[in-house]
This record gives sequence, structure tokens and C-alpha cells, in this order.
Amino acid sequence: MSTEEKRDNILEVRDLKTYFPIKSGLFSRVTGYVKAVDGISFSIPRGTTMGLVGESGCGKTTVGRTLLRLTPKTSGQVLFNGEDIHKVDAKRMNELRTKLQIIFQDPYSSLSPRMPVGEIIGEAVREHNIVPRDQFDEYITKVMVNCGLQEYYKPRYPHEFSGGQRQRICIARALALNPSFVVCDEPVSALDVSIQAQIINLLMDLQREFHLTYLFISHDLSVVEHISDTVGIMYLGNLVEYGTKEEIFANPMHPYTKALFSAIPVPDPDVKMKRIILEGSIPSPANPPKGCKFHTRCRECMEICKTEEPPCHTLPNGHFVHCHLYKADTPKENEKKAD
Ligand code: SF4
Repeated sequence: MSTEEKRDNILEVRDLKTYFPIKSGLFSRVTGYVKAVDGISFSIPRGTTMGLVGESGCGKTTVGRTLLRLTPKTSGQVLFNGEDIHKVDAKRMNELRTKLQIIFQDPYSSLSPRMPVGEIIGEAVREHNIVPRDQFDEYITKVMVNCGLQEYYKPRYPHEFSGGQRQRICIARALALNPSFVVCDEPVSALDVSIQAQIINLLMDLQREFHLTYLFISHDLSVVEHISDTVGIMYLGNLVEYGTKEEIFANPMHPYTKALFSAIPVPDPDVKMKRIILEGSIPSPANPPKGCKFHTRCRECMEICKTEEPPCHTLPNGHFVHCHLYKADTPKENEKKAD
């Protein structure tokens, strides 16, 4: 990767691991770890959206939280504009907080029921001195209007709004701090289908206007296809496949990705769906299977898959997959990736 391309990545994640200790006994001894994120690497170009897909419990939300340092990492690096955010001191992290924002899944529980909307959106703006005091009111109005909220909503409380409007308030709260990177953690899955499209379109409009970069976490592939530029597929703490949206949807390579995609409904009664049913449930991240973590559910499992971790196979366009069905990258290709 050239220096020019490298500079254009707002975020670079290198071999990131987030483990949670399992404690038991009288003295709360650590007896094991839940490996929620187990060594993932990717980068997000500035002004683009990366979709992160996988079943519940695969570690998507932990990735989002670790990227923002809301959850401590176990090892690896998260570089935001080249700066390792897990290494900076508290003062610098406080400055960076305005640039790194999150929109949560549930707009019902993520808003304080005791604060009026104007205060919810303005609280952190005041805290971080985003605008001079005399411009505060005007600024909050502008942010609200950008997110499709009326100025007269300011004194109202969250319970007076519908789910879609509440999610707009959450988006306005995040955008008021003038961020450059936003983690959208299943931002539409708690909303009615008719409202989902409005919120997705709002996020896309705001991205164009303010040149935002998103990590869009979702289990809904049609939403991910609509909003993403690149897509990562997660399984049990690992990124098993990654590539551009076009490439991943046209040419899924990992058996897990193929199974997920086979479940997308086709709006044509003449097309017969060949759904791949995944047997069993996702294994525990506290005790993941040896070799390929997907081997207990994979229809194409071979003997080698049960003992050896799958290698990385990278196509010339950057699409990569971790699976024994494909040839491992040569050391030369690995060097190129590390550059
Ligand atoms: Fe299936 Fe083996 Fe590939 Fe894992 S490495 S996805 S078990 S074929």
C-alpha cells in the first residue's frame, strides 16, 4: 500500500484483540477468557462506510466499542488518523472524543428520560466548547434541522417522540460534536421498516454533506448492501472475509458468507431460493473450536480445518478470505499487506 493510500485511511485496525476475563471461586480467580474479538485487521478509507456483518454474539459490537476506546483492548492497535487511541493520555482522549462518536441500537434507552431534547443534544456541545456561548442556541437549531427535527422540539422530552424521531435525536447528539468517525451500532434494527429507510437516507445525506466515515454494524444484509462501500464478515471474533461491497455481494467466497447471503429474500416468485441452513448454534467464544472456528457448522469442512487455523487468501483487488479452500498468500503478498 502506498503512503498516499495509507494517509487516506481514517482508521487502521491491526491484529486487535478484546478478551473479557472469566472469574470464579472465592477469590475471583481468572479461569479463562471470552475472546470477543480475536485478532482482526482492517482499514476504513476516509468518507466511506464499512459494513460489519455477522450473527448475534460474533463480536461486532465489541469491535465498535473497542475502536472508540469505550472498551479496553487486550492487544493490537487502533490508529485514528495515525494516532493509537488506546495509547493517548486522558486529556488527548477527551479531545478525540468529539471526533469519535457512536449511535446505539436502541433509541429508547440511550436517551435520558429526564432531559429535554435541546439539552440532550447540547450537553456535550457545552462540555467540549464546540461553539461560543452566544452561538449555542443557533447551533443546536441548525444541527436539529439538519437531522430533520423542528426547533420547537427543544423543550420536549424523549417519551413524546416516536422511535424514528428518537433515533434522529441520537444522530443529532452525535453530529453536534462535529465528529469525523461514527460507529452506527444496529441503528435501525429497533425501528419499523418504513422508518428504517428514512434513517438510512438521513445517515447517507449527512455523510455526503459532512464527509463522515461510518462503521455500520448490522445483521441485515440488504441494509448493509445499501449503505456500505466495503463489507467485513465476522464469525466468533474473527473477520473471515472482507472486500468492497460489489465484490463481496457478487463473489462471496467464505462458506459462512455464502450461507448468510443465501438467506437474503429474492423479490421474484419464479426464482427458487437455494438456502444454506447453518446447523447448530454459534459456539461459545470462551471455548472456541480448534482450527477453523467455523468447522463445526461448515458443509465443506475438511480434516485440516479441524486442527489448523485457516490461512489468508487475498485477491489482487484487496478482497480477502480466511479459509482452507483457498491458497494461502505468499510471504511476498503478506509483506505487501503489511506495508
Ligand atoms: Fe469451512 Fe474449512 Fe473453510 Fe473453515 S476453513 S470455512 S471449515 S472449508
